[in-house]
Amino acid sequence: MNSVPGHSPELAGRTALVTGAGSGIGRACAAALAAAGAKVHLVDRDEAVRAVAEELGGAAHVVDLAQGDPARLLPTEVDVLVNNAGLQHVAPVHEFPPDRFELLQRVMVTAPFLLARHVLPHMYARGWGRVVNVSSVHGQRASAFKSAYVAAKHGLEGLSKVIALEGAEHGVTSNCVSPGYVRTPLVENQIADQARAHGVDRDRVVTDVLLTKHAIKELVEPDEVAHLVLWLCGDHAAHVTGSTFTLDGGWTAQ
Ligand code: NAD
Repeated sequence: MNSVPGHSPELAGRTALVTGAGSGIGRACAAALAAAGAKVHLVDRDEAVRAVAEELGGAAHVVDLAQGDPARLLPTEVDVLVNNAGLQHVAPVHEFPPDRFELLQRVMVTAPFLLARHVLPHMYARGWGRVVNVSSVHGQRASAFKSAYVAAKHGLEGLSKVIALEGAEHGVTSNCVSPGYVRTPLVENQIADQARAHGVDRDRVVTDVLLTKHAIKELVEPDEVAHLVLWLCGDHAAHVTGSTFTLDGGWTAQ
């Protein structure tokens, strides 16, 4: 993606690890990092990650990030860590199942912490590293019925800032990318469910239900998120740290 004829690809010699790489945004990030010359470790609990890794020439790790310390099953020699795996559960607070609340925190906050503490010593030793956390507009804004997701993404934003402060003297940056609604299986399934529930067609669900808060009434594409992630991994972004980059069609401008 970023290679120019006659020049080394931007991430040649770097090793990346992407969680949730079997699908959606994580898959697009893994593809962009591989195209930029990185060796990529693709992590997912879903076996589908094996086929994606084969297609990209990367290494697959079928690991459930919610179980124990998932980092012990993964390599330490990682220069680019993309914390992307995530899931949603929708229910009012007073009916929210505590075990689901806990699961979302484990996958979207605790696992990124465990992975960061696992790979930061290698990044510090090399004097170079990139941590990119796939947050969400819900890292800055709340929506009703999404308590676990909103709490987790706000937590991830805080973790990202602390890693940025501690990594600063070691050449390690940490940032969040925060999309609005992205065209991934996670959202495609919601569209189908909502179309059935509301008795309207899929296009109406996208514009009138999902994208009410987007000024641009189109879903973000996974490749757009991957381009931003890749940009944050370049040497040109060495002073970009502790920040959040929204890709939300204007949602948070309101
Ligand atoms: P997706 O469902 O297509 O992909 C998520 C991947 O994470 C899946 O492959 C899933 O198997 C994996 N995963 C979930 N739990 C896991 C676990 N315990 N261990 C290992 N892997 C696990 O979803 P997506 O839309 O690509 O979401 C990726 C990230 O982007 C998530 O953090 C999500 O919160 C965030 N995000 C998505 C949207 C959107 O509209 N799609 C918007 C904002 C933020």
